[in-house]
Amino acid sequence: MGREFLNIMDPEDLKKIIKNIPINKRVEKISIEDSLTRILAEDVHATINLPPFRRAQMDGYAVIAEDTFSATEDNPVSLKLMEVVGAGDVPEKNLINGFCTEVSTGAPVPEESNGVVMVEFTDKKDGKILIYESTAIGQNIAKEGSDIKIGKLLLPRDTRITPDKIGVLSAIGMGSVPVFQKPRVAIISTGNEIINHDEDLTYGKIYDINSQTISSAVKTCGCEPIHTEIVKDDYNSLKDKINEFTDADLLLTSGGTSAGTGDVLREVLDDIGEVLVHGVAVKPGKPTIIGRLKLGDEYKYLFGLPGNPAAALMVFYVFFAPFLRKMSSINTSTSFQYQNAMKLQLSRRFRPARGRTHYLLVKINDGSAVPILKDSGAITALAEADGFIEIPKNVEILEKGSLVKVNPIGGLINPII
Ligand code: AMP
Ligand code: MG
Repeated sequence: MGREFLNIMDPEDLKKIIKNIPINKRVEKISIEDSLTRILAEDVHATINLPPFRRAQMDGYAVIAEDTFSATEDNPVSLKLMEVVGAGDVPEKNLINGFCTEVSTGAPVPEESNGVVMVEFTDKKDGKILIYESTAIGQNIAKEGSDIKIGKLLLPRDTRITPDKIGVLSAIGMGSVPVFQKPRVAIISTGNEIINHDEDLTYGKIYDINSQTISSAVKTCGCEPIHTEIVKDDYNSLKDKINEFTDADLLLTSGGTSAGTGDVLREVLDDIGEVLVHGVAVKPGKPTIIGRLKLGDEYKYLFGLPGNPAAALMVFYVFFAPFLRKMSSINTSTSFQYQNAMKLQLSRRFRPARGRTHYLLVKINDGSAVPILKDSGAITALAEADGFIEIPKNVEILEKGSLVKVNPIGGLINPII
């Protein structure tokens, strides 16, 4: 028997409900090799100086700078060689006036030295080193801690780890990195007609699209899809499956959310938890559900997407993706920039849905936003689109040439995998 939707909700109210869902963040330590794209869970302070010792920035000769002040191209200063110090070596002899120490780039310079002359401005003659250029005090020497000072805040919590940040972590010898654990999201596709890719496509069946689209979209939000499964439109099967997923931080289902025969999700949620939302005044995506239920010892949320694959992904992008990004801390990650929405002109007149916020897919052609007028359920419409525009429910008509904000989707979203 069909059931009624709960009160059809305004999308702004839905956003508020989602915003207020509490988030539990967990921290794990992982090896630096695995840390790319992860989010730092703690501030990282410098535990050492970099460089840890005074080092030569050039191949050449460490000198007492004052010894070279009179040196010119025509009138070089002649110094005796004290010793040779390569990178990784330790100077063994004190430098005194009239002497120099040969150093390689990255080698420690002797304590008494206050300048390094580049090898290009020197010559070796009769066992002596001729210096052809005056050396300023401090020249070509990197001071201890000139790059990183011990105790300094290097990377704040919430930083997204990119190759350059990995460089900073490596510089202080951090082999294991505290990051936020990826939130685990269980994905359930419902429907008696839905089959896996390895099954035969018999009459009446269709291949599962939503498990794949939703789990990959979940990854772009910095979360980890788990337990991707197809469940029949059967009260007990769905209830048992949901109850099984106690290790998930969030459940995402698709299909079975309407108020029709075979749509059992609402009934299951009513019985094992509570339904907070059932029905949203949007097109596409009206049959969207949010439920709260106790799984194991904890309260968990279930986001029920419509079965229609294009609608499911659209609802995910518009309402749920921001929440998943908040769960995974990608939204606060300082170095992560979302692709900005663009203001473009609409290429033709468009009449939106009445009384509902309409999300219209568009592609960008010659700098204007071209509505995709395929059946809103077509997954190919979504694949063709560069973005979508949001048309408020009270708009009767959008004239050709009106300025619209195009929100990027799909390939335009920076991948966070
Ligand atoms: P429902 O919301 O369950 O009524 O499904 C709406 C439409 O989407 C139906 O035509 C379903 O066959 C289709 N659909 C539901 N789930 C999926 C899925 N996982 N993959 C592809 N199509 C689906
Ligand atoms: Mg169904």
